Amino acid sequence: MRNRIIFATTNEGKLKEIRLILKDLDYDIISMKDAGICIDIVEDGSTFEENAIIKARTIMELTGEMVLADDSGLEVDAMDKAPGIYSARFLGETTSYDIKNNYILDQLKGLPLEERSARFVCVIACAFPDGEIVTKRATIEGFIGNEIAGDGGFGYDPIFWVPEYGCTSAELSTDIKNKISHRGKALEAMKDVIRAYEKSGEKISHL
Ligand code: IMP
Repeated sequence: MRNRIIFATTNEGKLKEIRLILKDLDYDIISMKDAGICIDIVEDGSTFEENAIIKARTIMELTGEMVLADDSGLEVDAMDKAPGIYSARFLGETTSYDIKNNYILDQLKGLPLEERSARFVCVIACAFPDGEIVTKRATIEGFIGNEIAGDGGFGYDPIFWVPEYGCTSAELSTDIKNKISHRGKALEAMKDVIRAYEKSGEKISHL
């Protein structure tokens, strides 16, 4: 039987994206549901790191297995880095992203490009069965566009302008987005940590 890692999410879309990025690891990536866990984790940390650690540690302590968790969001500099860790809950958990995105466009109306800087941030935490926890953070820098564009991706993608590609992240192919995105880069970095753990079984916090 292959080794497995539980990914602490209930979001099937995210899990699909993560499985694709981690496909060259010699582990099955299973969801909380597949692991038979159905709990609501209160994300009451004040940083992306704290929230990712809360999720990974909670599930590791329940199962005794290796657990990955992520916490991510959009920081808009002209809005004091909001919505930040509150990205999913911004303007209300059930509010549509069309409303959230239009609200941000309104807040930045009339601002020149250099004042529209923004980034997606992702922190991946891995909780190992011996209690050790490692985090990896990655970002993708960009700008808030002037209008909604593209129907790929999810969340704030239609307003996030990626200068290197001259389009929003909702207009990028999944392959390219996974390669350059905050989540893709943080998971790539975490792969090295997991591979080292697999090889040596030793402490890997120095990586
Ligand atoms: P989390 O699932 O608690 O980490 O919440 C992350 C939230 O940040 C999502 O619900 C989105 O609103 C936003 N977000 C994170 N990554 C992305 C992305 O790649 N594209 C668009 N929105 C994102």
